[in-house]
Amino acid sequence: MSKYDLPEGVTREEMDVDVLIVGGGAAGLSAALHLSQSIEKHNQEIAEGKKSGNPIPEQMIVVLEKGAEIGAHSLSGAVLNPTALQELVPNFKDEGCPIESDVVYDAVHYLGSSWDVKAPVTPPPFHNLENKIISLSKFNRWLGSKCEARGINIFPGFAAVEALYDGDKIIGVRTGDKGRDKNGKPKANFEAGLILKSKVVIFAEGTRGSLFQQVSKKLNLRAGKNEEVFEEGVKEVIQMPAGTVKPGQVIHTLGFPLKKSIGGTFIYTLPEDKIVVGLVAYLDSEDPLLDPHRELQKLKTHPFLQKMLKGGKVIAYGGKTLPAGGWFSMPKLYGNSWMVVGDSASMVDVQKLKGIHLAMKAGMLAAETALDAIIHQDFSEAQLKNYETKLHASYVKEELYRVRNFHQTLSKGIFASLPLIALQEITGGRGLEDNMVAHKDAKTTEMVVDIWGPEGLQAEENQLPKPDGMLFYDKLSSVYLTGTMHDEDSPNHLLVADGDICRTVCEPQYKSPCNHFCPASVYEMVPAANGNPNEKDLQVNYTNCIHCKTCDIKCPFENISWTAPEGGGGPRYTET
Ligand code: SF4
Ligand code: SF4
Repeated sequence: MSKYDLPEGVTREEMDVDVLIVGGGAAGLSAALHLSQSIEKHNQEIAEGKKSGNPIPEQMIVVLEKGAEIGAHSLSGAVLNPTALQELVPNFKDEGCPIESDVVYDAVHYLGSSWDVKAPVTPPPFHNLENKIISLSKFNRWLGSKCEARGINIFPGFAAVEALYDGDKIIGVRTGDKGRDKNGKPKANFEAGLILKSKVVIFAEGTRGSLFQQVSKKLNLRAGKNEEVFEEGVKEVIQMPAGTVKPGQVIHTLGFPLKKSIGGTFIYTLPEDKIVVGLVAYLDSEDPLLDPHRELQKLKTHPFLQKMLKGGKVIAYGGKTLPAGGWFSMPKLYGNSWMVVGDSASMVDVQKLKGIHLAMKAGMLAAETALDAIIHQDFSEAQLKNYETKLHASYVKEELYRVRNFHQTLSKGIFASLPLIALQEITGGRGLEDNMVAHKDAKTTEMVVDIWGPEGLQAEENQLPKPDGMLFYDKLSSVYLTGTMHDEDSPNHLLVADGDICRTVCEPQYKSPCNHFCPASVYEMVPAANGNPNEKDLQVNYTNCIHCKTCDIKCPFENISWTAPEGGGGPRYTET
């Protein structure tokens, strides 16, 4: 008996649904809401004689969300381009949409080691005056409430762990079991995962969706596509003294503190005297010691930030990867009874660092395609191809296609890439070469000695500013601010394929990059169990995991697989 078999006498409950959406983020919730709205509109038009055909009977639309509640795992910058929101909920302001602030000021600064210079003109990609500052966590909770008000079934705390197939057709998913101990044995509170069978499945899991990764491999959806590549972002919300912050300001910076990696930072001001400070780093970095959390702490030591943040206290923290490969990295988007939307399909404009509106629009287009499929009772690949056709005719393609070579170019270095990026602006995104190759993030890491010389981890740039419990935090204290929880006596969801590689190759030569890039102190090298004083073993503190997915992407030996833990585990973001 496998440790994951069901106990004797226990069977899995099965449920038939009409449309199943895997992931309760902006993409999935927009798909659910727009489908419900579109069915209502269709039926109304028939009732009013404006359209021929039959009304659609009530559909069971289900959204599965692995977080304990909608919004718990949602984290983004987030400055929202409101285009898709206006289409989805035209009177969103009157309907209680939690907009923190309209953007009233935008700027770009270059930071030297102790000086800064403001760009005389804000470059177009950083224009934000039409946009809204939001907390994605609050925004998604609001979208979820709109869905529930329309009778859409949202199942929080349910992680989809396996797709169910009939040949190449996806017929549903299985959700993960709950109540297994760390060895996989059922505990007294054991609950078997559900089988949900659906006419169509929309994958909307967000960045590096673990189920869609499996589907993508099985159905070979990435054949002929560019590598999926990512950036890692970390963010803090800082409470400032009363009366010191004017909301609606958006400042991006380049330069300090990142030296060996490409990336940048963002600073937004919110009502109630809060400031958001975040840092994004390209994961195709060669630096084995890249540590975005440490870089974020260093950023706050800069005089430009020190002046702005005087008297502040960090009250929230989070981290997440964002897909950066864009147009050429998108997998096949549809198949027999399924579609994929949003970050799981690399739909992010990395030049503007904006993907929420694209994810929402893709969700809405998938909903319109699902509506047609329901009308015709045809969920075949040929019918669902309409999703791709609609997407190609929409601003999702227009925006992604314009920046299709951006990430690959900027990876060459900020200053080296500027002429090429300027050329891309003139040529509609083409530049000198189209479909520039993206390099797999896991394969770009170099050995410590080649990047840092003999100083390695002791180099001054690799030191964390002294934590003070106000503005500066060590990782464990930061993780505490995420509200992250996983049952200590549940299976480890971070699967390390070969611990020997960690001990004998990675630690000596690369100083175990996972110990650095993980924003939550999950990975730690400890004295080797074999007693050899010169060796260290990897210890995985999986209960700290904030589900950013960096380890699944950046381990140089592709030694880690991120799998969905027991539903409901993970961060509990409320402010991010
Ligand atoms: Fe290195 Fe990967 Fe092992 Fe971490 S898991 S020590 S990054 S090989
Ligand atoms: Fe992110 Fe992996 Fe660390 Fe979890 S364990 S926080 S997914 S890097």
